Amino acid sequence: MLKKGNKLYSILTGSCPRCHEEGMYLDKNPYHLGKIYKMHERCSTCELKYKIEPSFFYGAMYVSYGVGIAFSIAAFVIAKLIIGTTLINTFIAIILTLIVFMPLIMRVSRNIWINLFITYNANAVKKKS
Ligand SMILES: [Zn+2]
Repeated sequence: MLKKGNKLYSILTGSCPRCHEEGMYLDKNPYHLGKIYKMHERCSTCELKYKIEPSFFYGAMYVSYGVGIAFSIAAFVIAKLIIGTTLINTFIAIILTLIVFMPLIMRVSRNIWINLFITYNANAVKKKS
């Protein structure tokens, strides 16, 4: 399922959306909070400029809303329907889930956002060599 050429590969690994050869971020670990937004200027393999236009990644906020809802629903199902906690504890579980997974949600949202605009191109790798 997770092979190069699949958008899901780029979204989950944070790799370049065009060539899938290398990571977009300076630090792969999203939990190093000081570097969470630090990205390479360009992909060194296919030379894709990640920030297509100024403030490009502001659009990822729309995506992060949806991703946050997905995490909230998962937390709700686990806390309320599987474990069977009270309603107030379920809300606390949802809030804690959103806080704990916030860096991950932001990264995934950026990856989804850039993958909406750029498609995989296997020939992009060969361009440089
Ligand atoms: Zn690339």
